[in-house]
Amino acid sequence: MDALTGDRSEMGGDIAATEWVRPSREEALAAVRTLIAWAGDDPRREGLLDTPARVADAFGEWFDGYGGDAAAELSRTFVDVQGYHDMVLLSGIEVESHCEHHMAPFIGKATVAYMPRGKVVGLSKLARVVDIFAHRLQTQETLTRQIADAMGESLDASGVAVLISAEHHCMSTRGVRHRHVDTVTTTFTGLFKSDADLRARFIALAKS
Ligand SMILES: [Zn+2]
Repeated sequence: MDALTGDRSEMGGDIAATEWVRPSREEALAAVRTLIAWAGDDPRREGLLDTPARVADAFGEWFDGYGGDAAAELSRTFVDVQGYHDMVLLSGIEVESHCEHHMAPFIGKATVAYMPRGKVVGLSKLARVVDIFAHRLQTQETLTRQIADAMGESLDASGVAVLISAEHHCMSTRGVRHRHVDTVTTTFTGLFKSDADLRARFIALAKS
């Protein structure tokens, strides 16, 4: 992990100057107690006593993507595809992520596709790759690109397409408070970029 650099006023001088170190669980629990107090409640209140531990456990699930390896998931491919050379597409993959700006959830669906060049990968592996990147802090734009890059690097495909449509809770529950607004991001490489008909087929299937 990169060292934190930069001089953000809210970062605190000591944090900005030192290398990034993963804190202990005790430190994480203390940080949650601080946030509860910052929200205006008493972390010593009975109903809140076990909350820091629950929040830490939830973080363990929401952010387990840092322990995942997308390239390893996609490393096992199959060559016996009986001459199948058309698009392989997975739609309706659940996306549960958190934006890096507010750590608020953004939730939606991903459609991923590739044009195989003689090798295919297990379909569940593609969904797993979406999870690995989604369960980290980032933007939807970055997430879309990361999934496409991982597929492009591992699958020897002649094109990759990724579409994500998601609702951002930082937009629906705070700030402008617009509900049911979906953010749609796409990345196309290779044939999906150069062949408008193929791209249109992908988008039609992603919407259906
Ligand atoms: Zn946000």
